[in-house]
This record gives sequence, C-alpha cells and structure tokens, in this order.
Amino acid sequence: MRIKRLKLSGFKSFVEPAELHIEPGLTGVVGPNGCGKSNLLEAIRWVMGESSPKSMRGGGMEDVIFAGTAQRPPRDFAEVVLLADAGDNDSDLEVVRRIERGAGSAYRVNGRDVRAKDVALVFADAATGAHSPALVSQGKIAAVIAAKPAERRMMLEEAAGIAGLHVRRKDAEQKLRATEANLARLEDLMGQLD
Ligand code: ATP
Repeated sequence: MRIKRLKLSGFKSFVEPAELHIEPGLTGVVGPNGCGKSNLLEAIRWVMGESSPKSMRGGGMEDVIFAGTAQRPPRDFAEVVLLADAGDNDSDLEVVRRIERGAGSAYRVNGRDVRAKDVALVFADAATGAHSPALVSQGKIAAVIAAKPAERRMMLEEAAGIAGLHVRRKDAEQKLRATEANLARLEDLMGQLD
C-alpha cells in the first residue's frame, strides 16, 4: 500500500483544510519546532484507527479537534482523509475518519460507512496500521530496541501481513463459542421434549 494523499481539516493544528500529495520516493517534512510535523504522522495513525488518546498526545480523543487559539474559535469536528494505492490491482482506497464533539468517531471506506474494526482489517491485510512499526514516532526507536520478544514477534507478523488473520481468528472463535452455546441449549430443549 502506498499513501498518495492526505487531507486534514480541523485536525490538531491543521485548522484550515490542508492537502498533502505524497509523491513516490522519499518525502521529507521540514519546519520549525511546533509547526505540526508530528501532527501529520499522528493524522495517518488516527485515520488508520488509533484508539488511544494517549498515543495521540491527548487526554481524550476529542483533543485531536482544533482547540482554538487567541485569534480563532475552536472547531466542532476533525476529519482526515487518506488516499492510498491499494497495491494489488492499482485501485485507489479512500479511508475517512471524522470525529465530532460529543458524537465520537465515524469511518468511511470508499464512500461506505464502516466500523473501526473494518478499517483496522483493511490496513492489517495491507501489512500496515495505526500500530505498524513502519510509523516511527519520536522516541519510538528506543522502544523498538527495548521491545520484548512477544512484541518483536507482533512486529514481524505485521510486516509479514498476517496480523489481520489474528483478528479474524478471534472473530471466528467468538462465533464458534456462540454456536456451541446454542447447540448445548438445543440439546437441553430436545432432552425436555423426549
Ligand atoms: P517538533 O519539531 O518540536 O517535534 P512538530 O513540528 O512535530 O514539533 P507538532 O508536535 O506536530 O510539531 O505540533 C505541535 C503543535 O500543534 C503545537 O503548536 C500545538 O499547540 C498544536 N496542537 C496540537 N493539538 C492541537 C489542537 N487540538 N488544537 C490546536 N492546536 C493543536
């Protein structure tokens, strides 16, 4: 998967709609301290489904919404759109995450409303995602070096593109347990009828 475009609106310091075209090859983002470079990486993680406000450097998820300055009022919502090359057949993938004050997050994939879980699967299948080791925030290099074997294994599994299988396995196990409970109940009822 190759990220081609990122659109931000009301997200952290990006109060005005901003659009970034990410060309093939190496892209560098430069600017003075506090201009929003880390906010860009956080926008990518956020649209991929990041659910921890702490890892977005906030106390609550609504903290990603532009909080206002002395000159500008706060915004009511934040939205990030990620456009990527899905890889296999060159089809484009558009993922949108929007958060409104008091209303939580909503996701869309290629124009269709989806759950956070579906977004996580889309990225997991493409061997990336909000927790992908490919997204290295400040201070994360030391964390990778100090990672425990189980954490390293998760990184390797993500790189190998099998992280999505774990999510599906968990789903399948839940369905299996529900079906087993139904069967046990059915047997009870049949026993009562005999
Ligand atoms: P450095 O080079 O120091 O790491 P940076 O370019 O990575 O800085 P960021 O950390 O991305 O900068 O941006 C920090 C800026 O974003 C701060 O000015 C902060 O006030 C602003 N900011 C963060 N969250 C919000 C928000 N919800 N509303 C408005 N501004 C915000």
